[in-house]
Amino acid sequence: MVQCVLLGLPGAGKGTQASSISSARELLHISTGDMFREAAAAGTELGLQAQEYMSRGDLVPDEVTIGMLLERISQPDAIAGFMLDGFPRTLPQASALDEALAAQGTEIDTVPYIRVPEELLMDRLTGRWSCPECSDIYHTVTRPPKVEQICDSCLSSLVQRADDQPDTVKARLDTNREWTESLAEYYESQGKLRLIDGTGAPEDITRRILETLDATG
Ligand code: AMP
Repeated sequence: MVQCVLLGLPGAGKGTQASSISSARELLHISTGDMFREAAAAGTELGLQAQEYMSRGDLVPDEVTIGMLLERISQPDAIAGFMLDGFPRTLPQASALDEALAAQGTEIDTVPYIRVPEELLMDRLTGRWSCPECSDIYHTVTRPPKVEQICDSCLSSLVQRADDQPDTVKARLDTNREWTESLAEYYESQGKLRLIDGTGAPEDITRRILETLDATG
């Protein structure tokens, strides 16, 4: 049984890796971002509450987030192990998780931290362009249009979403770096942090994380 927390900045491939790892090891993948989005789409009270914060780009308050996560990991499908993606994001969340697990006589086993050089993250996150006419999505690195900034399908000029513009991306990285680094220190002090090289092919990164989990479990 493995109980782990996956860390990584936006663009590091955390979501992709969490899905690959959870299928490879039959671990339950728990993403608090997905849980909030599902609750918002279902229109539950929790969802409506969370939506307010999410739309501003703020963190949902700890009381709400911790309660939701602890309830989720107490479900029967989490008994065989889980991989948390997007939680904890604050130190109170990390210690609430530790306390809840300690009360059941368990703990977080390992914390892989996917590391990618910042320039590469900027390229990945600012490379997305879309067509305002037919909504086709391009990426300057992974899916470039045949003619620069022109849609292949309808020849309209491509546009960049506000979220993907360099200043916005930089601000998002700065905020995320702050909490990610403080959590990395927290888990480092417990001897659980494992640095993972997040460059190269996704399969190679998956293999590196699996090796880390195997070395722990
Ligand atoms: P994500 O998909 O992980 O980027 O999460 C989307 C949004 O959900 C975030 O911007 C927050 O508003 C909220 N959220 C997700 N996880 C947490 C968390 N652990 N603590 C507080 N807010 C969260």
